[in-house]
Amino acid sequence: MTMTTVQAPRGLMFTRCLFCHKPLPENGQLAHMPRGRRIAYDPLQGRLWVVCESFNRWNLCPLEEREAALYELERIARDHAKLLTQTSNITLLSASPLTLIRIG
Ligand SMILES: [Zn+2]
Repeated sequence: MTMTTVQAPRGLMFTRCLFCHKPLPENGQLAHMPRGRRIAYDPLQGRLWVVCESFNRWNLCPLEEREAALYELERIARDHAKLLTQTSNITLLSASPLTLIRIG
């Protein structure tokens, strides 16, 4: 991965992009990750990012929020999402209003 990432302060889920400070949109879907509509995650490594739609920057989410959010994302990906495109290790899924980038 070559994307720039930055770690959020502990215990603080994002309301704004850490790079451009624009407010992240509410998604109305994820109880454990209420902000951000474009979400990338790696269930095997337990990593999770909110992708800022302005500059395509990846905001790495705080550790303590990840497990519950990853569980929610896997459930949505499995039950509700539409496959947009897939490579050997990245799957792009649509589950309106969310876009999910599943790694692995
Ligand atoms: Zn941003």
